[in-house]
Amino acid sequence: RPRPLLALNWKMNKTPSEARAWAADLAAALTPGGAELAVLAPAIDLPVLAGELPAGVALGGQDVSRHEAGAYTGEISAEMLRDVGATCVIVGHSERREYHAETDAVVAAKARQAQAFGLVPIVCVGESLDVRERGEQVNFTLDQLRGSTEGVGENLIVAYEPVWAIGTGRTATAKDAEEMAAAIRGALAGLYTAGAQSFRILYGGSVKPDNIASICAQPNVNGALVGGASLKVADVVAMNDAL
Ligand code: 13P
Repeated sequence: RPRPLLALNWKMNKTPSEARAWAADLAAALTPGGAELAVLAPAIDLPVLAGELPAGVALGGQDVSRHEAGAYTGEISAEMLRDVGATCVIVGHSERREYHAETDAVVAAKARQAQAFGLVPIVCVGESLDVRERGEQVNFTLDQLRGSTEGVGENLIVAYEPVWAIGTGRTATAKDAEEMAAAIRGALAGLYTAGAQSFRILYGGSVKPDNIASICAQPNVNGALVGGASLKVADVVAMNDAL
């Protein structure tokens, strides 16, 4: 079983100065072992982090343009992310789907663009509360997965983040996370030629030091995508130690 991935999504938090201080604190406090770490930071923080993160901690973006270059004001390209040292990027986070109207087709285009520049896309999927209450979460999430991976190569990470568990303190049970991760793994095995076990599937949604171990112990869960608890170094160290 590979080491779990602890992927830290800062969302729209931390200035470059704050990022520098966080990285120095992490370097002082991080103990080896535990998980593989990746910091998914605002684009403007990436150059600072590239120079300050402890060795072995990966760097990634939170979004990427689906276009290669040109007249797309405000966008950040995959090539730009790669150039500052990013190796991965989140695509299709539910906050981007909701507040920026990103469709599955847009998410897939972003994932393809990331891969074209050697970045591993972390493709986010997951149902809202009304879908879960209707009991349709598996069909919904697998449809979203198929749409968001159209034409995307097999070198990807999938993050299952039920919308009702994000920032709410309401975590999916380890059993819920495992049930969906297993369904996602089965779907990936059908979409790609790579073996089912080669895919990395993360859970996200109110992951914290006290629940990360039980979630990541599930056979089909290979790590966590963490929002709120990624901001404090003490929480990150505690989560790494718990894995
Ligand atoms: P929280 O950990 O704050 O619930 O956020 C989860 C998330 O959206 C990570 O991408």
